[in-house]
Amino acid sequence: MLGAIEAGGTKFVCAISENGIDIIDQETFPTTTPDETIAQVIDYFKAHPADKIGLASFGPIDVNRKSNQYGYITKTPKAGWQFFDILGTLQKHFPDTKFAFTTDVNAAAYGELKAGAGKGLDDLVYWTVGTGVGAGIVQNGQLLQGYSHPEAGHIILRRHPDDTFAGNCPFHGDCLEGMTSGPALQKHWGKPAKDLPADHPAWDLEAYYLAQACVDLTLTVAPEKIVFGGGVMHQQQLFPKIRDQFNRLLNDYVTVPPLDSYIVPIDLADNAGAIGAFLLAQSA
Ligand code: ADP
Ligand code: ZN
Repeated sequence: MLGAIEAGGTKFVCAISENGIDIIDQETFPTTTPDETIAQVIDYFKAHPADKIGLASFGPIDVNRKSNQYGYITKTPKAGWQFFDILGTLQKHFPDTKFAFTTDVNAAAYGELKAGAGKGLDDLVYWTVGTGVGAGIVQNGQLLQGYSHPEAGHIILRRHPDDTFAGNCPFHGDCLEGMTSGPALQKHWGKPAKDLPADHPAWDLEAYYLAQACVDLTLTVAPEKIVFGGGVMHQQQLFPKIRDQFNRLLNDYVTVPPLDSYIVPIDLADNAGAIGAFLLAQSA
């Protein structure tokens, strides 16, 4: 049996699957303190045993096996979770279980590659645009990782000449996340992102920045496809706008697949992370 733990900043989702695609059982717990939340995760997998578990955590996390903090959530702003050894704690309770450990966005990227919009491909970029912004990058079927996992949500952008919003990233102000996340949109426009009408100018600016993010990753990692998920991307009108801006910015410098099939929405919706976690565990 395969297990998945999606450790998010607001909720934890635990699930099991036989084949890594179909979810047999799933439970959700609110993210409170590590003691309380991890106890619920442990109870879940005592009741639903799995020989391999994919642990997909909110970050930043330490994924460097050479590090003595491998398996830790590191300097998160989330109270109580700073430098918590999430992998070690679970491994101690389930010594015979094999764990795969990665970020929540990486798991979703892997799920989309194996079973979603990128099925059959080897190289893919998955962007999530929600409370935060992040990218999972798959190259030759493997999640890209150097000394740490990528943090492409914080890349620096060329600001739109008419845009005076300072941005809301506590580290960088107007980085990609600081300009395009759900909370950034709310701060910029004074209402929740989901309440901005489809013809609001917010979406042109949003597409202008997300297109830059696509150009940057097209030019650096040359994916076969770019997939977008996350709450903000429920705004379907963003897709043609991002493709238009992408075309204008790239200016035919490199050849990419037809944009309708190059920049696309997530296929597995809310299950991408769990499916990715199962499949990462399976190949661990
Ligand atoms: P999280 O990133 O916390 O896992 P989501 O991916 O659902 O969760 O992102 C939540 C963010 O997405 C919130 O800031 C919310 O305002 C925004 N959001 C949710 N639904 C929509 C929508 N239909 N249109 C625009 N923004 C949305
Ligand atoms: Zn930032």
